[in-house]
Amino acid sequence: MIIKNGLVFTENGFESKELYIKDGIFSTETSANQSQITEEILDATGLYVIPGLTDIHFHGCMGQDFSNGSLEAIEAIAKYQASQGITTICPATVTLPADQISQICEVAADYANQHGSILCGINLEGPFLSAKKKGAQNEAFLQRADLDKFQAWQKSAKGLVKLISIAPEFPENMAFIREVKDSVTVSLGHSNADYETAMKAFEAGASHVTHLFNGMSPLAHRNPGVPGAAYDCQHAMVELIGDGVHIHPAMIRTAFSIYGADRIVLISDSLEATGMSDGTYQLGGQEVTVKGNLATLGDGTIAGSVTNLMDCVRYLVKEVGIPLETAIKCAAVNPAKSIGIYDKYGSLDVGKVANFVLLDKDLNLKGVYICGKKQTQKNKK
Ligand SMILES: [Zn+2]
Repeated sequence: MIIKNGLVFTENGFESKELYIKDGIFSTETSANQSQITEEILDATGLYVIPGLTDIHFHGCMGQDFSNGSLEAIEAIAKYQASQGITTICPATVTLPADQISQICEVAADYANQHGSILCGINLEGPFLSAKKKGAQNEAFLQRADLDKFQAWQKSAKGLVKLISIAPEFPENMAFIREVKDSVTVSLGHSNADYETAMKAFEAGASHVTHLFNGMSPLAHRNPGVPGAAYDCQHAMVELIGDGVHIHPAMIRTAFSIYGADRIVLISDSLEATGMSDGTYQLGGQEVTVKGNLATLGDGTIAGSVTNLMDCVRYLVKEVGIPLETAIKCAAVNPAKSIGIYDKYGSLDVGKVANFVLLDKDLNLKGVYICGKKQTQKNKK
């Protein structure tokens, strides 16, 4: 396939150039041209060509939660995400009993990736978190870090666990960071850690922050907390929920000027209600009420979003004033880097899997391709 006449995303901005795909992989002009007689030409005149997005932190959509632990749930999730231009996914669990997490990991490892978005990781959000900043996590199943349990989950997942959230203010959890840092990305989150403790956690090997500003010690002038430590630890990536509910737009702009576009990972943190109408849904056994863009527990706690990652990109560009190329970088390039899959995904470079999306000037979807194959779109939720 040759993609012609499009405005192509690169890390230096958009460029007018052609892209070549051979056997589902971006290739050089010469190798694609060898079979030119049958070459399919995709005319992208007037369209942006961007890498498919990667959501590394979301829980579900279309009435299905990843934590249901069923193939049916993963299939529905993968299909919906693909229809929206999110072509690689690393869905998140919630705080649950250990055997239930094992079961979810097992099912995800068995998932064959035949249709829709490519499942390329599992994000364990819980149970090694702090009750003080539990947010919508179920306190009944919170516990201190346990290496044996983590290793059992990773075994069930056949190594698919790519990210784990940790509250580092407990000695067991701090020790755990040192033990697992080489096998999984360790993220500080749902944590009340002060600046000094968070700095120690980064020194111990944490390199990521779970939904920055949400579920953590705040950035205060004498107590800079996890956000301040994340700034001082220059290698740490920080997740931002871009749904227009979790973070004030001024705080998103502030985050971009503090942390810079290289370190921000846009996430949706979306729940099973995403893509569905208002009503009552579930999150880790707790009831969540959805009205418009807001999803809350009975006590009013915000419980994740109902916005997919492509809509988060649109929100950042249209409502927050973030340049399109920056928003794409934070929703495609950085998430792939943060979970170690950038060698295969996250850009339109030669040698990468040909996952890409066509957007018009108003950021409407005009085509989603996974491994070079066109997916069925769904334009409105
Ligand atoms: Zn969370």
